[in-house]
Amino acid sequence: MTTVQSKVLIIGGGPAGYTAALYLARAGRNPILVTGPEPGGQLTWTTDVENYPGFQDPIQGPWLMEQMERQARNYGAMMKEDTIVSVDFSGSPFLCQGENASYQSNAVIIATGASAKWLGLQEEAIFRGYGLSSCAVCDGRLFQGKEVAVIGGGNSAAEEALHLAHHASRVTLIHRRDQMRAEKILQERLFNHPKIRFIWNHVVTEIIGTAHPKAITGLRLQETETKTSQVLPVQGVFVAIGHLPNTELFKRWLERDNDGYLLGVPDSSATSRPGIFIAGDVKDKRYRQAVTAAGQGCMAALDAERYLELS
Ligand code: NAP
Repeated sequence: MTTVQSKVLIIGGGPAGYTAALYLARAGRNPILVTGPEPGGQLTWTTDVENYPGFQDPIQGPWLMEQMERQARNYGAMMKEDTIVSVDFSGSPFLCQGENASYQSNAVIIATGASAKWLGLQEEAIFRGYGLSSCAVCDGRLFQGKEVAVIGGGNSAAEEALHLAHHASRVTLIHRRDQMRAEKILQERLFNHPKIRFIWNHVVTEIIGTAHPKAITGLRLQETETKTSQVLPVQGVFVAIGHLPNTELFKRWLERDNDGYLLGVPDSSATSRPGIFIAGDVKDKRYRQAVTAAGQGCMAALDAERYLELS
């Protein structure tokens, strides 16, 4: 297996990784970016993007990712379609083992993102991007005046429901228990909102829709104890049952919080391990936007550049 050497390796092909690659390429560091199994990251599952600054009209998520990738490549970043399967951060050069090659570098930027958790229904693969979403801020406006459902009982579900209530005619929050785990202040806002209603103790067993055009028309729900089922007519479904940061690879080497997000030095992209930097959703459970991930990618590139300069 070939060994690829570089000053800096970027792991993850999403907004954070591509932005880091752009900055480091322009700094003359010839970065290598390993895309991972889903080049483009979560944005490849979004259709209309209306909140990435600089575009008057809606743009497509996959198109935006392609542009970022090309821009970084045009300035000299090298893209590798590979997936890192293990890392050794015991000392510099750091070693990252991919499926196709081994990588050695003096600095590493981790931008492996987070993956939304899904319900595990087979219809999810059909309707993702066609009425099914995990990001109300990204896709909520597409449901102006329509009826939508949010699945989940945590802070994410509460925030998604409140955001969607700005657009949708009605939001139904479906939870598998009769109590939410979301913060009390969020729960109060939900309970007092005239457009939000609740279906407790129910799980989704089927997403119902049409094939041509691909669109959701309803959800089949099942009561958790009696097992009785009902169909809820909705045009939009937002699954908010949590995200999993893609950090398993790094747990031996870097600190993580209770939810698995990587912990870094405050107000910086640095970690407790000099030369290892983090950016984007892999460390950020709060904002989780393409633009914030891109900003953090920029920060990590500037921090890595400074580190390389001084080492
Ligand atoms: P979470 O707190 O883990 O909540 C997930 C919710 O989804 C739970 O209510 C859970 O039900 C439900 N759920 C999980 N798997 C399910 C399944 N297969 N089917 C149906 N329901 C399922 O996740 P989160 O809301 O994304 O929050 C993750 C972390 O980020 C938390 O620490 C949260 O506080 C933080 N966060 C913070 C903010 C903020 O500070 N503004 C915003 C968003 C998230 P049960 O309750 O029955 O387990």
